[in-house]
Amino acid sequence: MTTLHTLGFPRIGAKRELKFALEAFWQGQKSTAELLDAARELRQRHWLNQKAAGIERVPVGDFSLYDQVLDAQILVGAIPKRFGLDAAALDLAGYFALARGTADHPALEMTKWFDTNYHYLVPEWHADIAFSANPAPLLAQLREAQALGLAPKPVLLGPLSLLWLGKTKGVAFDRLNLLPGLLTAYRDILATLAAAGADWVQIDEPILALDLPADWLAAFASAYQNLADSPAKLLLATYFGSIADHAALINALPVDGVHLDLVRAPEQLDALLPGWPAGRVLSAGLIDGRNVWRADLARQLARAATLAERFGNDLWLAPSCSLLHVPLDVAQETALDTETKSWLAFALQKLNELKLLKRGITQGRDAIANELAGSDFAQATRRQSPRIHRADVAARLAALPADADRRSSPYPVRARAQQAWLKLPLLPTTTIGSFPQTAAIRVARAAFRKGELAAADYETAMRAEIAEVIRRQEALDIDVPVHGEAERNDMVEYFGEQLAGYLFTQLGWVQSYGSRCVKPPIIFGDVAREAPMTVRWSEYTQSLTPRPVKGMLTGPVTMLQWSFVRDDLPRAEVARQIALALNDEVLDLEAAGIRVIQIDEPAIREGLPLKRSDWDSYLAWAGEAFRLSSHRIDDATQIHTHMCYSEFNDILEGVAALDADVITIETSRSDMELLTAFGDFAYPNEIGPGVYDIHSPRIPAEAEIERLLTKALAVIPAERLWVNPDCGLKTRDWPEVEAALANMMAVTKRLRASL
Ligand code: GLN
Ligand code: ZN
Repeated sequence: MTTLHTLGFPRIGAKRELKFALEAFWQGQKSTAELLDAARELRQRHWLNQKAAGIERVPVGDFSLYDQVLDAQILVGAIPKRFGLDAAALDLAGYFALARGTADHPALEMTKWFDTNYHYLVPEWHADIAFSANPAPLLAQLREAQALGLAPKPVLLGPLSLLWLGKTKGVAFDRLNLLPGLLTAYRDILATLAAAGADWVQIDEPILALDLPADWLAAFASAYQNLADSPAKLLLATYFGSIADHAALINALPVDGVHLDLVRAPEQLDALLPGWPAGRVLSAGLIDGRNVWRADLARQLARAATLAERFGNDLWLAPSCSLLHVPLDVAQETALDTETKSWLAFALQKLNELKLLKRGITQGRDAIANELAGSDFAQATRRQSPRIHRADVAARLAALPADADRRSSPYPVRARAQQAWLKLPLLPTTTIGSFPQTAAIRVARAAFRKGELAAADYETAMRAEIAEVIRRQEALDIDVPVHGEAERNDMVEYFGEQLAGYLFTQLGWVQSYGSRCVKPPIIFGDVAREAPMTVRWSEYTQSLTPRPVKGMLTGPVTMLQWSFVRDDLPRAEVARQIALALNDEVLDLEAAGIRVIQIDEPAIREGLPLKRSDWDSYLAWAGEAFRLSSHRIDDATQIHTHMCYSEFNDILEGVAALDADVITIETSRSDMELLTAFGDFAYPNEIGPGVYDIHSPRIPAEAEIERLLTKALAVIPAERLWVNPDCGLKTRDWPEVEAALANMMAVTKRLRASL
């Protein structure tokens, strides 16, 4: 019989109970015992949810109070020495010191988990680190699950992925040197788990979906040979991409089962099956763990049935990856209509889909005839719904000329046309868009959303904010002011709410890191702009000042990247639709006299595919979508873009191909190193390297700004250099912002005078 399992489950809770318990604990309002009780309650509820859906092997060790990669570090005793903590004696204060930092010790660095929006805590590898197995916390959870009468399957982050995801510190050395010591800890952990009754252990090695250097691939062979005598059976879990390139290696590893992500990379089966060792379990990830769409049950049943014929009892079925990346339960969404809901499946619904697949395999199609009909109906309505498919959107895209993504003139010509009316001084100054989101702004927005503040009163309040922001920018003498984004809750949600084709959930929370959750919008249908979105705000702003106001939009790639995206169209096509919707807005802004327009694309870098061979095609469509947003605008209209989270050294060509007139980037934390890369690349257009870090409340001294700006002048000609902070200022306070910008202006004026 086929076995059902999951690789991991959302842990935050239907009502974000974990978030609130954590935050109450951090504020001293909950005791250790209360936090641990809340965590246990959630863990158990989620195991029982899974059991109720027929999941035979529930995961243990996927739950975490902060981050599963942090837990993996503690499990092998790998706590950076700088914290002075002992893994085996770690209490909650120590645990959260690692995760969140203390006055004396900055937290572990955080970065994105593969191509998801989840952030993990980055291990710090020192050459002399000593690993030691610390299985007690995991063991306790295993016993908890066993006490509920479940057959749990502990989940470990694999040794090679753990090493890969960390950064070396101190003297330079090869992380692979740490492998032997790390494997000793894994052997101990596996032995302990097996002795406690775990017959199977899942070992996640998601790095197998990346391009790996030869020595890392070789290390897989030796590492798993070293673990081959594990008393527990090993299920090697891969996800987020294909491992077909390593088929021979994987098939030769001494593991008892392999999980494949057959949603992201269905074709990898063809590469792996021919050499699949007899008796090895195939865990087929057929249900999409990264997206919110209801499965096409008939199609998945056909695939599962074929696999069941070949594998019999050795077939396991699972979601494609951990369900951590999707919300918990569609049934909670009371504001969505029934048809829309019938198209969606969150974690609990996905469990049910697995259950139906198993029933279909074991009892035949007829046993799930009703459910198949329901699924077919949902697929059919999705294929045909006029809410999803709009002839006007399709026609408009089809009618676009081949060069629709090209400005009419090259940058040097445009620059002259722009300067002719802008008449900006050398080193023009601007900001990235948002100004402090004060308590008053948030209160007004919340009241308006709840219907407690009338639209006209809200409008008045926001206009007052804009007037104040303009007054302050004029007092500072900023050359290109902005309206401050007071009316925006979030740069994607704000636009998504006004565009056709987007829907929003009430409780569709997905963990981002620690207690932080996001509620990504869902792009379910063709995207189109119904009415101007920002024009009245920008127009009003411009009416307050003779300076050129910069309009502010979120770019197509970022709109895509921070949403759940429909799976019935290529992402490139969805990006083109968003681009045309934004183009309507760009043209309306231009017509309203807003002729400096910023189209933010902070998410371009993180959208890069996991494999380098896919980068070029991604950058090609991403760039096209960005440029398409400015289709048909005048040479004299200046397009800005903004990107943060640095590190585009390896995609500078793609960034330059956006052909924005001005790009502002985050550079201060890299000490302008990034800008040097732009200089070496001979970046052709205007560029505004951030001259101070906005993530900290520290007010940058004039000398610091001057040092960075002088560095910038050495690589970018003054005629093409702008001056601005690293990113938006919405998380800062006014006193900090005014002091920092005043210093920025003073330095700029001094340098101007010297040029
Ligand atoms: N315009 C946005 C702001 O200033 C940009 C945010 C971002 O880059 N993440 O807030
Ligand atoms: Zn930014």
